[in-house]
Amino acid sequence: MINPPFDPQPLPLPEMAKTPIRNAMSVDVEDYFQVQALVSAYDRSNWEGEELRVARNTERLLDLFAQYDVKATFFTLGWIAERAPGTIQRIAAEGHELAAHGYEHTRVFEQDAAAFRADVKRTKAILEDLGGVPVKGYRAATFSMREDVLWAYEVLAEEGYKYSSSVYPIAHDLYGLDEAPRFAFRPYPGCGIVEYPMTTLRKLGRTWPGGGGGYFRIFPYAFSKYAIRQLNRNEAQPYMFYCHPWEIDADQPRPVGVPFKSRLRHYTNLSRMEAKIERLLRDFKWGRVDECFVGASTPAFGEAAQ
Ligand SMILES: [Zn+2]
Repeated sequence: MINPPFDPQPLPLPEMAKTPIRNAMSVDVEDYFQVQALVSAYDRSNWEGEELRVARNTERLLDLFAQYDVKATFFTLGWIAERAPGTIQRIAAEGHELAAHGYEHTRVFEQDAAAFRADVKRTKAILEDLGGVPVKGYRAATFSMREDVLWAYEVLAEEGYKYSSSVYPIAHDLYGLDEAPRFAFRPYPGCGIVEYPMTTLRKLGRTWPGGGGGYFRIFPYAFSKYAIRQLNRNEAQPYMFYCHPWEIDADQPRPVGVPFKSRLRHYTNLSRMEAKIERLLRDFKWGRVDECFVGASTPAFGEAAQ
């Protein structure tokens, strides 16, 4: 496929009137042995031999969301869905959004267009069969959308997806597309997919991580609370929060030989994470990705447009 040039088309800002703003709660459903930072310790060929812990950790998050009556979006690996079908059914049955995270956490730029198409098609079919709901959203493994793989958006549109949430617009050693707009955009004119990036903050003339994911777990809660408040009040934008089931699992196996930086990223504050997420649920209003953002209520989103 021809790769289109990156020519981002920002979507209009949401109206200030919608307060309090509903922020997006998202979970990337994968297990501890599938994380990019631990790739040196867990070879893909040995995944079958690892203890699957994702089902019970995801169920703990589902219990927590139920307690606060929060609906979230679960970007789920096809590989996990095949091995934890009951959990996937529960996600859909409790009114959460079921979305795709690819089949087995392969980064977009490691695939050609044909392999990428097969992956997103297969994952969508597995999730839709189990959940009995349409799958519209996609999140690339390790935010791996890059300028040289923008054809992937076209493939997603052709395979029936409506949006992507695959970009972290900061300079980072693992992530791509750091020049992207901070809020909802189409990656080029006429593209059938809207991209909802991870939240960043503008301070001191620079773009900073907005306090989701590992940043949320590692830094004090007050930092994320401040970031969400600033964003909602000053920029009238919903916050995109994301976390992983393994982040609330302090007892997960710890393999030897993991580099220091990866250990720091993966294991810091696991035991405090669940209580921190609970504070977020108490302090702010949350919803599914397909219901929070401008553009999410356009006719293209069909039944989610309410
Ligand atoms: Zn992931």
